[in-house]
Amino acid sequence: MKKLLPTATAGSLPKPSWLAEPETLWSPWKLQGEELVEGIQDALRLSLFDQDQAGIDIVSDGEQTRQHFVTTFIEHLSGVDFENRQTVKIRNRYDASVPTVSGAVTREKPVFVEDAKFLRQQTKKPIKWALPGPMTMIDTLYDDHYKSREKLAWEFAGILNQEAKELEAVGIDIIQFDEPAFNVFFDEVNDWGIATLERAIEGLKCETAVHICYGYGIKANIDWKNGLGSEWRQYEEIFPKLQKSAIDMVSLECQHSRVPMDLIELIRGKKVMVGAIDVATSTVETPDEVADVLRKALKFVDADKLCPATNCGMAPLSRETARGKLRALCAGADIVRKELA
Ligand SMILES: [Zn+2]
Repeated sequence: MKKLLPTATAGSLPKPSWLAEPETLWSPWKLQGEELVEGIQDALRLSLFDQDQAGIDIVSDGEQTRQHFVTTFIEHLSGVDFENRQTVKIRNRYDASVPTVSGAVTREKPVFVEDAKFLRQQTKKPIKWALPGPMTMIDTLYDDHYKSREKLAWEFAGILNQEAKELEAVGIDIIQFDEPAFNVFFDEVNDWGIATLERAIEGLKCETAVHICYGYGIKANIDWKNGLGSEWRQYEEIFPKLQKSAIDMVSLECQHSRVPMDLIELIRGKKVMVGAIDVATSTVETPDEVADVLRKALKFVDADKLCPATNCGMAPLSRETARGKLRALCAGADIVRKELA
């Protein structure tokens, strides 16, 4: 992409109140059947409109097409029993009731390909599409079949690769894998996490990204962050290996995070989506606050590789707040773009 500092969102945008309960994470759909299909398409168009109005350069579906960033994908696979639920600790942090892997996991039909095709018809801008990463998928399930986190991750990586290739074929420009689990299970990330991610992107010609954040602004995450000390050095554990991987872009949480910015130096050469919008507060950043984060990041990322973005998804915020944050992101990027010109 030619434009310097192209803006993007890292994840979700709020859904309209007629589609799902507002300001609620992972809220169930309010519509069903054909009405749901049409409702999702309408919400996707509105989300795209908001991104366009704010001036976002790399657009997405605003994740209007999924109820949950991991389980909506898994719901479309066979081998997972959603009736048989078990309580597991997610990312070593909070208990959740999750479905059970009861047999071989397979993808018998495309998951998001029709939605992606629909979005492609609505815009000429570059599109980024998010999928869950293999490690975050296994961490959101109870495995009663493979009995091995690594083995299940490799299975999911193959499935994600099938989906990603079809998304690429309908015109998706960047495929992003959400891997918040990369911030927790460092040994596994280095042993096989990055390898399974590379399996998921095997053979793709479009750009690929991995999003590694500190999670949505829910209490379990905020408590966890508060206990991480004055410097968050989690990225340091995995960046050296990530730098050598085939992934093109890395999406990080930088605004109001205690991540030392110089850690970004460890992935020099990669494109970096710098999170300059805090999604855990409803206070809208000023353009100057956004610009400040971008300037700091520019010491460690070449300008032609920096993509201003949000820290994570904005689904739990009000639509007005999210729109304000999108505008602030674009205005902040504009300030820095002018300084670089
Ligand atoms: Zn995130």
